[in-house]
Amino acid sequence: MHTSLFVALYLPKFLLMIIVSRRLVNVLSFNFASAMAFFPFILLQKASLRENVIVMNHERIHLRQQLELMVVLFYALYVVEYLVGRLKGQTHYQSYKNISFEKEAYENEHDLSYLKNRKIFSFRFYILQKTIKKPF
Ligand SMILES: [Zn+2]
Repeated sequence: MHTSLFVALYLPKFLLMIIVSRRLVNVLSFNFASAMAFFPFILLQKASLRENVIVMNHERIHLRQQLELMVVLFYALYVVEYLVGRLKGQTHYQSYKNISFEKEAYENEHDLSYLKNRKIFSFRFYILQKTIKKPF
């Protein structure tokens, strides 16, 4: 892969742009999340979340997904997958957890070298994965 493209896709930690704003996170996530990725930024409710390597890894996985789908397509698919889940009768939380982007991020957030080894468009492996049914 061309070096500059690789650097852009890898999004090294020193290039991370973090915004700390409780209000912004609440508005954009409908009072649901404490952190979120909004390319090219990671938005945090509070600065201390920056030290949470799992949360930061989760959000960096989303930044990678967003970059691969040129951001707009990521949000379009994210909303479609969420709505399909709701139409199937899933709760808000079940539907959220069953979005392929979230499945990939939750399943790999503890692996801090995941993004170094991840293949392009890896979220595709999670699209047809079996439905998670947590009692929420
Ligand atoms: Zn997520």
